[in-house]
Amino acid sequence: MAPMTERIRDFLRDRRAAGVEDGPVLVVDLDVIRDNYAKFARALPDTRVFYAVKANPEPKVLSLLAGLGSCFDTASVAEIRMALAAGATADRISFGNTIKKERDIARALELGVRLFAVDCEVEVEKIARAKAETGAEDVRVFCRILCDGAGAEWPLSRKFGCEPAMAIDVLEHAHRLGLEAYGVSFHVGSQQGNVGAWDSALASSSWIFRELAERGIFLKMVNLGGGFPTKYLKDVPAVGAYGNAIFRALSKHFGNRLPETIIEPGRGMVGNAGVIESEVVLVSQKSKAEDEVRWVYLDIGKFGGLAETMDESIRYDIRTEHDGERKVPCVLAGPTCDSADVMYEKTPYWLPVSLEIGDRVLIEGTGAYTTTYSAVAFNGLPPLATVVI
Ligand SMILES: *Cc1c(COP(=O)(O)O)cnc(C)c1O
Repeated sequence: MAPMTERIRDFLRDRRAAGVEDGPVLVVDLDVIRDNYAKFARALPDTRVFYAVKANPEPKVLSLLAGLGSCFDTASVAEIRMALAAGATADRISFGNTIKKERDIARALELGVRLFAVDCEVEVEKIARAKAETGAEDVRVFCRILCDGAGAEWPLSRKFGCEPAMAIDVLEHAHRLGLEAYGVSFHVGSQQGNVGAWDSALASSSWIFRELAERGIFLKMVNLGGGFPTKYLKDVPAVGAYGNAIFRALSKHFGNRLPETIIEPGRGMVGNAGVIESEVVLVSQKSKAEDEVRWVYLDIGKFGGLAETMDESIRYDIRTEHDGERKVPCVLAGPTCDSADVMYEKTPYWLPVSLEIGDRVLIEGTGAYTTTYSAVAFNGLPPLATVVI
């Protein structure tokens, strides 16, 4: 679980030789992802893994996972193409975004994708029309239901999903329009620290299964979504604990007629595989008062890839060459000329008092949701570079 690995340390010792001279860099260790995949497979042996591509779409990450047998949850036609390019066949790809243009649905169907997420009847109608237009057969839809996200450090709001009662109508509509009403999905909120968070959504899922069965529509699948955490500052339960809790909840609500299940881990698959090396650009204070807080400015901030520090939601573990020395509370900020580019201020970050301009800092657990959030040339700064080892 340790976010820093020997391989990453060796690489960083000689990063100039690898041609990554200046600026922050994310180093991703594929061995860690391989290990994470095996842990998911062991924790949920009867569940297929659909890696959430948006967490880190690096081609080498996708090809590793494709080779291990993973399926892929995608959010756009571009991500579908990336998964195909990595070696996944179209039957291993789902279009999991509930907000799709009709012509993108048609493109996905033309590329062979047959599994789509919906959360309302008009989205079902788009898929039915695109199916008719392309002549595609056996098109499956699953309906996403709302989840309150309690216990998650990066909850997902009401943007996606509908009330369970409405999901019944949505899936019945899909059935009526010649689509296969395939199942139910939900997402318990990203970085979910509560292993029991799946229970109430599984209760709703089984209720939807039963209600539809009474109408002669037999759902097959429950998509358990993502939410599996990675270790930041705080410890998190192991994947096995999630697997046990989910299996118990499935048995409780579905008895011995367990549905087919899939998971869509993003953060839990790649988060601990990456470390960002950054540099201290400035250390200063706003007055000469003794107790004045120190401001530490790095060469990476909210716009360089650390967007999840928004509202100080995700608190990364930061290592310096001076760890072990006396630490003082600091405000941690990025390098851009944007006043929103402050990462930790409400809850200051404790850093060594000896930290100086030019020192390197390692931001651990940054394999997920960093490079893709990095702005392109805001303030003339290049997007976050990635090296996959
Ligand atoms: C982002 C996303 C995921 C991945 O969530 P994590 O919390 O990173 O595991 C899974 N499913 C869907 C539909 C998503 O949008």
